[in-house]
Amino acid sequence: MNYSLGQKAQHYLTQLAECSETENGVTRLPFTAQHQRAADLIKGWMCEAGLSISMDDAGTLIGRYNAGEGKPVLLMGSHQDSVKQGGGYDGIMGIVLGIVALQAIQQRGIRLPFSVEILAFADEEGVRFPTALLGPRALAGTLDLDVLNRTDSDGVSLTDALRGFGANPENIPKLKRSPDNILGFIETHIEQGPVLEHEGLPLGVVTAINGIERHTLTFTGQAAHAGTVPMHLRKDALAGAAAVILEAEKLAIRIPELLATVGQLNVSPNVVNAVPGSVTLSIELRSPNDAVREKAGEMLQSYALETAQLRDLECHIERTYSQNATLCDDGLQQAIAHAIAATGEKVFYLPSGATHDASAMADLTKVAMLFVRCRKGISHNPAEYASDEDMGKAVDALIVLLTNLNQ
Ligand SMILES: [Zn+2]
Repeated sequence: MNYSLGQKAQHYLTQLAECSETENGVTRLPFTAQHQRAADLIKGWMCEAGLSISMDDAGTLIGRYNAGEGKPVLLMGSHQDSVKQGGGYDGIMGIVLGIVALQAIQQRGIRLPFSVEILAFADEEGVRFPTALLGPRALAGTLDLDVLNRTDSDGVSLTDALRGFGANPENIPKLKRSPDNILGFIETHIEQGPVLEHEGLPLGVVTAINGIERHTLTFTGQAAHAGTVPMHLRKDALAGAAAVILEAEKLAIRIPELLATVGQLNVSPNVVNAVPGSVTLSIELRSPNDAVREKAGEMLQSYALETAQLRDLECHIERTYSQNATLCDDGLQQAIAHAIAATGEKVFYLPSGATHDASAMADLTKVAMLFVRCRKGISHNPAEYASDEDMGKAVDALIVLLTNLNQ
């Protein structure tokens, strides 16, 4: 059968989706039998692309196109693992599309002036062990080695899991690469959101991976009888929290680069006939612009304190987490934009709302990402889907990118 490149990618991904613990959706956790089966399939396709294959001691499968001794190397790839009952495209599609592009380059007899490594990282999602991004952090030299002692829900340590997979975790510090001679890291990934579909476009150039910060906020008032305490004598913690929730939404609608989400709310006593005495809520802010995000965080904190004062509530706020945005490299963004234009598609730029291997790779080298439209923006879900046509466009763009990349 004569497959188009997009059909070929789909065919590969269908086989990989079968390497799953669950029938419903894909559950492929790192260093499991399912991971091994997927790695074996990937190795076969890497061979067809003429790549030399190895696995490093962080469990990253590497397929290398060798342009010769001393030539610079372009790193590409993504993660093989999934969430529990996730989809068949998140991460793994980025590995497959890179391989299909290199197979086509090989078949067309094109010689690249630089080496290329396709990296199939073991663990991005952090589902099995309470840590993530093992492979890219090992390459960047940013891995906290203490995480190797962490255990999964069966009590198996990450060290033992790596050993069982044929890796030697003692060698992880030696995996740190020098950025010299690395051209950058390019990750192809499904968008995991609805923007490209809304725009009617198959591909997008990622400008940045959004920074994130999280706050935990507790309003304390006075729990009271809902029938006996008049409105002007209440200290309703939930009414105060509601004002902050709406302010967060208003702020994020007004500021173009900001996303704000209140996803968690604990109300006490949480009964139908009591004035809420205390409420704890989460506020999560994301933005490709760290200054915008941090300013918004401060504004919301001040708003919460003013609200508390106005309503005679106690307010405790803590910023519990923050992670800066990763900016994608301008030159690599341009190269991806040029490649998309060469496939006849409109060039569209968007930030990534989710974290990716590229964020950890940014500690080693310049990074860029190519996004592929996913149906209805659904991801981390068995319904996740990218079409043959869109993946074919992505492979075409990668071929242009690889054959035109200025070193
Ligand atoms: Zn992913």
